Parts: sequence; C-alpha cells; structure tokens
Amino acid sequence: MSSKSKFKNVKGTRDILPEEAIRWQKIENIIRKKMEQYNFQEVRFPTFEATDLFRKSTGESTDIVRKEMFTFEDMGGRSLTLKPEGTPSVVRMFLQHGLFNKGALQKFYYIERMFRQERPQKGRYREFRQFGAEVIGSSSAESDVELVKSALDIFNELDIKDVELNINSIGCPRCRKNFIKEFKGFLKEKLSGLCEDCNRRYAENPMRILDCKRDKKKIKGAPVPSDFLCDECKEHFEEFKNRLDFLNIKFNIDNRLVRGLDYYTKTVFEFVNSNLGSQNEVGGGGRYDELIKFMGGEDTPASGYAVGIDRLMLLLKEEEEKLGVDVYIVTFDEESDAEGWKILNGLRDAGFSCDKDPMRRTVKAQFREADRQNAKWVIIIGEDERKRGIVQLKNMGKGEQKEIPMKTGKIVKELKC
Ligand SMILES: [Zn+2]
Ligand SMILES: [Zn+2]
Repeated sequence: MSSKSKFKNVKGTRDILPEEAIRWQKIENIIRKKMEQYNFQEVRFPTFEATDLFRKSTGESTDIVRKEMFTFEDMGGRSLTLKPEGTPSVVRMFLQHGLFNKGALQKFYYIERMFRQERPQKGRYREFRQFGAEVIGSSSAESDVELVKSALDIFNELDIKDVELNINSIGCPRCRKNFIKEFKGFLKEKLSGLCEDCNRRYAENPMRILDCKRDKKKIKGAPVPSDFLCDECKEHFEEFKNRLDFLNIKFNIDNRLVRGLDYYTKTVFEFVNSNLGSQNEVGGGGRYDELIKFMGGEDTPASGYAVGIDRLMLLLKEEEEKLGVDVYIVTFDEESDAEGWKILNGLRDAGFSCDKDPMRRTVKAQFREADRQNAKWVIIIGEDERKRGIVQLKNMGKGEQKEIPMKTGKIVKELKC
C-alpha cells in the first residue's frame, strides 16, 4: 500500500497507535483506581463551551485566554472555544446542575482532552490530555493535601520518580492587596526594563510578573505574597505544610510560585521533574476560593489540580507493550473454518479475547498472525480433527499441545485450568 497520502495529522496533535494505546489504557486505569480510592467522582464535560466561560473564569489577562484558545463561531454567530482547561467546566457544571444541593462537599475527577494553541514542543501538544481533581466546598488545608497526595500516588504507581513538589501561598484578596501595593512600588522604576508582557501585567495582573522567566533576574529581591499573609492565610499555609510533613511528603517552598490563572487563593503548588528539561512542569494546582462566587454561585471554597498525561508519558520507563489475545483459531479448510467461527463466538461469550482470520488465508499466514497477536493459546482445526470431533489446543508458552473435544464448554474448561 502506498504511504504517499497527502493527509497528515495536524501540527500539535498526535496519533496513538495500538501499542502506545496499551500504555494509555494502563495510565488511565491507574488514575481511575487511585481517584476512586480517594472518593473523587468522575465527571465528563463537553469539548467546547461558550467562550465567555473561559474569559470570565480563566481570566482575560491570562496567556491562555489572550493567545492560546481555539475560538470559533458557530452558524448562529455564537463564540465557542475548545476547552483549554478543566476547572471552568467543572465549576459551570457544579452551578448549572445545582450540585451544591447534593452536599456541602463534592469531589470530582476527570480525564479529558484540552486544546491550546501553544508552540508545539516536546511533550506539549495543541490537543493534549489531562487528568485533574477538584474538591468543592472545603476550605480546609486537609483537602489541599489530599489533592497533592492523590497526584503523588498516581506518579508513584506509574513508577515515575523524581517528581518534586513546589508550594507557596499567594494569600487571599484581603492580604494580597498589601502585597500588590508594595510590589507595584518596587516595580515602578524597573518597569521600562521589563518585557512587554510584564508591562501589560503591571496593570492587569501584576502578581504574574513574579513568574516571568525573562525578567527573573531583574526583579530579584522583589517582595513576595508570602511576606504579606494575614493570620488566616498564614495559619492555613502552616497547616498545609504540617500535614505534608505528617505524610512525609517532601516539598520546596518557592515564594515566587504563582499560578497563571486569576482565581487562585492561598495554596498553590506545582509538580516538576527535571528530566523534562526547561519546560519541567508536569502539573499543578491550588486553591480557588474566589471563583465560584465570581461565577455567580454562593461563596464556596474549592481547590484542585491538573496534570498533563502527555508529559507523564515522557517520564514513563520505555517498556515494550505487546498486543495480545488469549486465543487464536487456525483452520485448514472451509468446513473447519465454520466450526472455528462457532468456537470463536463461544469463547468471546465466555469472556476470552479471541480472534481468527476472516479472510481464509493460508494456514501459514494464520499462524503468522497468531504469532503477531501474541496468542497465549492456538486452537487448530482441520479435516482430521473434525472427523474425530476434537480440536488441537496448543499452549504457546509451554509449547504443549492437547486434544480437546470440539465443544466450547470443554475448551473453556481447559483454558481456565
Ligand atoms: Zn489572607
Ligand atoms: Zn516579563
């Protein structure tokens, strides 16, 4: 077959072929298992939302909204956007469906595709996959630690080492005001030397200047939010750290860590892995006590995080994943093929993964296929077997071959022992 098709997947997207899909399934199974151990409940949400949802919740001044969203108009002229992150949709669902009526505390998780127009680079795609969790209704630092631990457990289970946890507190709107005032004062004279983005941020979202990669050196010695925490925020951060200590979770305090999104309060954290090079972030999150009220709900505390699964994939040990069926059926002639087909369906009904050749290729080709599929067992049926009312059952691992009556029930019994 020619491979000269002019069609290729679009830049920033990826195809996941069968062997790799096995790895994805494993990761997703681990995520689900862990999330359920933590009693997070799965939610799924639409691929696109009204653009205003992200404008409002993610924030007009963020890079995501300013330059990374895939936004388009539908035929009715409504502006829609492919979801660039999960939290706005989870909060929308929470409000729209009145989930607050179901209990004061709600714990959600998701595994979803997200879309951002970033410059594609290693492990960064324009369509990418994230898992995340949100705890809505709890203001407790215990919930923040629970979130952090759930992510670390997943990394652990995937045998991904060297994930570092950076934490910080960016305070609440009350104490942040004092920080912003001092910070702006500090920046005033330096502003003309800072990058264009920081000049814009100065007016819109000055806190973000703290994590500008370009201007890092120029703002050395700048005041940081944690110097200005009110008693409540201080206490919250202490409890967060104490509980991490209690669980023996190591962390670094990075007093310049601020998340890129406008609605974060108090706890912020990120997971980094130095093996990823300069773009070392695996995921992160924090508390967003202001968002739900801001979106029109009751004053409701919340926190959450998201982790890029594509990034995690880069950190997984290379293991060769093999396709595999339990049983492959090889037949010698047309009548045997009919018998084989019955057994095929019987075995599938009995819960085995099972396949045969639908094209009646040569016996040699069928054995080759059994091999390619890493079949644990091969059932062989020819004229002789048919006449004797048996099948040959070959255990491929042991190389042993047995004759079994040509009855699905008997075969199943043999496969199970
Ligand atoms: Zn505060
Ligand atoms: Zn800058």
